[in-house]
Amino acid sequence: MLLLLCEKISAIFIMALCRQWITDAFHYWDDIRRSKEAPLAGVCQLSGYIYSSTSPKIVRNAFIENLLPVYRQATEEELRLCQGAWKYGSFFTTCLTECRLFLPYATKKFIAAGGQVTRQHVSSFSDVSEQNFDVLFNCTGLGAKELCDDAQLVPMRGQVVKVRAPWVKLAFYGDYDTYILPGFEAVTLGGCRQYDSFNLNVCKYDSMAIKERCYGMLPSLKHAEVVREAVGLRPHRAVVRVESEILRLANGRTQKVVHNYGHGGYGVTTSPGTAKYAVKIARDLLASNSKL
Ligand SMILES: Cc1cc2nc3c(=O)[nH]c(=O)nc-3n(C[C@H](O)[C@H](O)[C@H](O)COP(=O)(O)OP(=O)(O)OC[C@H]3O[C@@H](n4cnc5c(N)ncnc54)[C@H](O)[C@@H]3O)c2cc1C
Repeated sequence: MLLLLCEKISAIFIMALCRQWITDAFHYWDDIRRSKEAPLAGVCQLSGYIYSSTSPKIVRNAFIENLLPVYRQATEEELRLCQGAWKYGSFFTTCLTECRLFLPYATKKFIAAGGQVTRQHVSSFSDVSEQNFDVLFNCTGLGAKELCDDAQLVPMRGQVVKVRAPWVKLAFYGDYDTYILPGFEAVTLGGCRQYDSFNLNVCKYDSMAIKERCYGMLPSLKHAEVVREAVGLRPHRAVVRVESEILRLANGRTQKVVHNYGHGGYGVTTSPGTAKYAVKIARDLLASNSKL
């Protein structure tokens, strides 16, 4: 009974944390979108529809319904904007981030603020602790599986097809991981979620399935030139790990670490929120000077 109660309290705590991360992250992206930096950072506004032919729950999202400027039920006419027997739908307006623009932009800002970038594979935290850092932020994504021996971290393979289709101005999400997402440079057609697959090669069968599902929703995409195909491994974890740890290293020293990994398929959406939380943890850790 007590155990059940503890689990319930912990679930409520995690839900509240997730809500905070998503809220903080959305405001971060939206502030950039409103600023003159938006095109350099690769952030813009995007509207679209999420449809389902099976369940009204799929088109609802308690975390973002009251956060986004627009999130409402789609009308009957709107359910027919795409091919398919759509029974349920929502219309939303949100922010889109083009990572190929945002990552160089963020790196430039980091360096301008005095940060230094070193590229190095880290096999163990001892590799970097020689440099006497006050605290390490561990943002290694799926790499934390080995680095932290974290069995909870599992790859969730995804594949996308990038096409040139400047006539597509709205995003569409359909059943079974199907999505059509106009971005800065191309329209992204997706997708798939393959649990525990480490396959980084483009799979022609996944490409065929993605195209068939997306063309089924928007037949005009059949005329779109394929720009490239890409595969990635989402760092899936039941709960994102954002917490501190004080490690005792092989050389006998201690090292303060703040972990921030396991964002799964929501790392772009939520990372400014989890990063803000990780920084707060680090500040508290340094202020308390804990050696526990
Ligand atoms: C097909 C696909 C579609 C997606 N769509 C979305 C979406 O629409 N919205 C969304 O929010 N998210 C989406 N995601 C998920 C998003 O890409 C991830 O959540 C995000 O990239 C995770 O970021 P991260 O920085 O934690 O990890 P990563 O991006 O994996 O970065 C980790 C970094 O750490 C480095 N590293 C790892 N191990 C070590 C080591 N031992 N030593 C040194 N360096 C190391 C890696 O080289 C890498 O640079 C999608 C992912 C895929 C694959």
